[in-house]
Amino acid sequence: MEQTFEKLDRTSVPELDKILGVPFNVLNDGFVRIIDYMGSDSSIVQAARVSYGKGTKKLREDEGLIRYLVRHHHTSPLEMCEIKLHVRVPMDCWRQWIRHRTASINEYSTRYSLAIDAAQDTKPDAWRLQAKSNRQGSEGFFELDKGKILSAREHELQELARTIYNERIEAGLAREQARKDLPLSTYTEAYWKTNLHNLLHFLALRMDKHAQLEIRTYATTIGSEIVSKWCPMVWEAFKDYQFGAMELSKQEIEIIALLQAGDANGARALAVKFGFLPPDGEKIKFNLERSEIEQKLVLLGIRPPWLES
Ligand SMILES: Cc1cc2nc3c(=O)[nH]c(=O)nc-3n(C[C@H](O)[C@H](O)[C@H](O)COP(=O)(O)OP(=O)(O)OC[C@H]3O[C@@H](n4cnc5c(N)ncnc54)[C@H](O)[C@@H]3O)c2cc1C
Repeated sequence: MEQTFEKLDRTSVPELDKILGVPFNVLNDGFVRIIDYMGSDSSIVQAARVSYGKGTKKLREDEGLIRYLVRHHHTSPLEMCEIKLHVRVPMDCWRQWIRHRTASINEYSTRYSLAIDAAQDTKPDAWRLQAKSNRQGSEGFFELDKGKILSAREHELQELARTIYNERIEAGLAREQARKDLPLSTYTEAYWKTNLHNLLHFLALRMDKHAQLEIRTYATTIGSEIVSKWCPMVWEAFKDYQFGAMELSKQEIEIIALLQAGDANGARALAVKFGFLPPDGEKIKFNLERSEIEQKLVLLGIRPPWLES
């Protein structure tokens, strides 16, 4: 029997169409804007249903199906959705961004064109202190008076670097060499195209509190301003099952089970056995994995027994 196919209309998301090309400002001079997109929540449902075949179409509501896919890491239907962004990002932030290898990128060339005449500046109240426990992180801010000096010095440095760059260009130096002393705060621009599955992976890592504030600001903008409008069902499922969720190791589950059974001594003994705590009588030193467990216990409303006096 000859198969018949319905005529299709191109998928569009009116909420996203309204903001096509509109820049969302990030940092002092950066932005993210949508150039193009393909697919929607319904494209994901449609693709997922192909794998179940005809006759199963009414088994689940669309939202239930999407939540099931995200909950169970059944990710290939999410790859049916693509988005192309135009981003303007300081070089140091871009260096972190392009570690995500699953996107297609075309970046502004400072061999071909003059370097973008803009640098990320830092307001006097936004200079962060080195974190004590996390070597990669920051915590708290410099006092305003010191911040004012840091911002003034930053301005001087950026001005000097730009002046020397311009002198080199005016002297006829090749653009590819003239740029070499521009600071990492200089903005670059790129087209960045990726699918929804890889975008969520990027957002999970870069919206996380462990990511640097600058890239976190971009990721949060992409998530809350763009993905939330593009695929609202996926966005909610992502927040519930991925971003706002918690991963527990086998050891953590065993410790929590004992704590919930009221066996604080047993939980403590397990923590010693797993190497999170030193044997009884020894001084408790910092242990990264134990501090991660403590954070999870706090979220679960459980007080770690070894913190009790
Ligand atoms: C908080 C934080 C701190 C970081 N610190 C450092 C650091 O100190 N130094 C540093 O160098 N990097 C650092 N990174 C970068 C990090 O190690 C990853 O390179 C980056 O986050 C990209 O992640 P990804 O490989 O999962 O993403 P993508 O490149 O987008 O890849 C997505 C997924 O595809 C698969 N994949 C893609 N390419 C390959 C491949 N070639 N081989 C196998 N699997 C592949 C993997 O499953 C991967 O998870 C840090 C990242 C974060 C979020």
